[in-house]
Amino acid sequence: MTAVKNILRVAVNRPFYSLLDYQCPDGVEVQIGCRVRVPLGHSVSLGIVVEITDKSEVKKLRSIQKVLDKTPILEENSLKLLHWASRYYHHPIGSVIFNAIPVLLRKGKPLPSMTVWKVNGELLDQADTLLKRAYKQRLVWKFMLKFASNDWLSEQYIQQGLASEGVMNWRSFLNQLKKKQLLINQKVDIESSTLPSVAAIGLPKKKAIILTQEQQEVLAQLAIIYQAKKVKPTLLHGITGSGKTEIYLRTVEPILNAGQQVLILVPEIGLTSQILRRFQRYFPQYSIALLHSSLSDGERSFVWQGVQNNKIKILIGTRSAVFAPLGNLGIIVVDEEHDDSFKQQHQFRYHGRDLAVKRAYDLNIPIILGSATPALESLQNVERERYHYLRLNSRPSARIRPDILVQDIRNMRLEAGISAFLLEEIEKHLNADNQVMLFLNRRGFSPVLYCPTCGWHAICQACDTHMTYHAGIKKIICHHCEYEEYAGTNCPDCNDSGITTLGQGTERIEHVLQTHFPAVPVVRIDRDTTNRKGALDSKLAIVYQGKPVILVGTQMLTKGHDFPKLTLVGILDIDRSLFSIDYRAQEQLAQQIVQVSGRAGRGESKGRVILQTSQPEHPLLLNLLSKGYLNVAKQLLSERQRWDYPPFGFQVLIRVTATDKTNGLAFLQQLSDDLSLSDCQNAGVTLWGPAPSPMEKRANRYRSQLLMSASNRVVLHQFLSQAIGKLQVYKKSGNIRWSVDVDPLNML
Ligand SMILES: [Zn+2]
Ligand SMILES: [Zn+2]
Repeated sequence: MTAVKNILRVAVNRPFYSLLDYQCPDGVEVQIGCRVRVPLGHSVSLGIVVEITDKSEVKKLRSIQKVLDKTPILEENSLKLLHWASRYYHHPIGSVIFNAIPVLLRKGKPLPSMTVWKVNGELLDQADTLLKRAYKQRLVWKFMLKFASNDWLSEQYIQQGLASEGVMNWRSFLNQLKKKQLLINQKVDIESSTLPSVAAIGLPKKKAIILTQEQQEVLAQLAIIYQAKKVKPTLLHGITGSGKTEIYLRTVEPILNAGQQVLILVPEIGLTSQILRRFQRYFPQYSIALLHSSLSDGERSFVWQGVQNNKIKILIGTRSAVFAPLGNLGIIVVDEEHDDSFKQQHQFRYHGRDLAVKRAYDLNIPIILGSATPALESLQNVERERYHYLRLNSRPSARIRPDILVQDIRNMRLEAGISAFLLEEIEKHLNADNQVMLFLNRRGFSPVLYCPTCGWHAICQACDTHMTYHAGIKKIICHHCEYEEYAGTNCPDCNDSGITTLGQGTERIEHVLQTHFPAVPVVRIDRDTTNRKGALDSKLAIVYQGKPVILVGTQMLTKGHDFPKLTLVGILDIDRSLFSIDYRAQEQLAQQIVQVSGRAGRGESKGRVILQTSQPEHPLLLNLLSKGYLNVAKQLLSERQRWDYPPFGFQVLIRVTATDKTNGLAFLQQLSDDLSLSDCQNAGVTLWGPAPSPMEKRANRYRSQLLMSASNRVVLHQFLSQAIGKLQVYKKSGNIRWSVDVDPLNML
């Protein structure tokens, strides 16, 4: 008797760790990746078929009730990756899969339709009259006109294009132009074959850049690497401004020409539009889409469908794009691979870069991890010969590496944290028609608001931490739980009017510089000024005009941006990181300094970097400035090896939060007691804790943690499975919540 494969292994939309088996009734056709309705207890649940098999350990199987899709909504490879990720990160399979797919699909609905726009060719000659007094409408019209002879444009594409020209309220302008009959729109079915092209057909192809000798050699090396039977990942270590993007473009070209798809992962939404433009100019013939968290669900579904049926050839996205169902993926590029934003820090705590490496491995396709400051993990993978290592060591043509000057600010009077010397330098560079950037990794006006008369401090009751004063909106805000209050002018305790601030954030720096240089625009880029959709693009547009400006920003500014007119970078207040208790703080600081410095002098003129510190003799700084990043990385790696920290040992963090101060800790203590000490010792697993988290109270919840580490990953994961099994059955009091973080980056 031949076995019939009629048992479906289904991930249901519930927080279960394992797949559930169901019978597929005779005559019902279903494929892997299709949604099904299944009975679950006394109710019905939505599920996705993950495996089809011929045997089950369950004796009496129930049947599925209904198949929702004719064709899979998730292609097999991304489904495999999700399944693997759920096991590796010990997160329930149902949550993993259902959180990855667009909301509409999650609810069991069909794919939506979307609106596309086009210029109405019949009224072209009347546009000038119709738009005489409507400046913004005219801007939008001019933008649309660039594509007059081409395909329908998706709203996603129009929004991106207009944002870079500083137009935010795009939808209302489109509607006004439609009223005047200058534009027409229609709704299209995403699944239909009339899918509009999202390519930027109107952009002129950029004049070919002549590659340097070094770049040509890297490309030649990559070509050899791709020919291997089993392709290893490549770490592309290119100094800032060395033209990594040019390498990406050239190396994916033959893969696109062979009909395959390209996935580009970047750490932040802010970087997507810049890299999008580079790709659009280089590949006007291919459709390109963005995938990130601020897309509407309709747009997300559109992209989802487009990559699945191979209509979208290039996908640029943030970490979650690693799960996108690209059906014909040929290469993956992870840009700024060292960046922590690739790790999701809530719920399903996965690392986008690591999963990209896994996906490439499964498909046996090339993957390039690019960075000017590679992560220690990646460098160690080179050392172990798991990755190839390629280097770009120079800036093409006129670009000279910037000088870095360390300025000792001990015993120095500062104005809002800025030295008189730095202010003079700013003036010099602005007078020379150049741009200036100041980096400070703290937003808001001031981190402390207090009363010198009675000693009152603005403290968040829910977190026991200082609240940050935001002058523009006259509020104090807790940066840990977002709680906010209006800040009065008088002390809430003694009613004295002498309430004042201590220290500075980006907002205060902005104020001070605006007073010093009233004729020059000061552009502040941080989470507060860019949280509106498109706001970052319009701020960057001011900088790209090339006129003298002062940029002030947090780490958002350190990544990837290319400002040709920027010649001076000031780095303020790094000293806190030099003494952080986090074992990763020094790696991050070294990366930050190199990345921020790398923004200077990317155009024709030489750049200068001024780093203010009260620790000019700190070994990390001395080493970094005299010997460079790679040397610092080697030293940090040898320290990690001594302590068996990652990437040498492996870690898992179990976190518990509770409304009561002692309950959470007791809950973890029970776990620690049950994982018997001798078992741990025999297996080589070390338990650290349980202990209160470094930040013990956040948003009115008390936090505690238990760190498990081992030099054998497999053993550690077996232990974790055991631990999770126990956590699931413990009685929970005091509103206890627990979570698991595999390969944790953040221990706070
Ligand atoms: Zn007071
Ligand atoms: Zn708070």
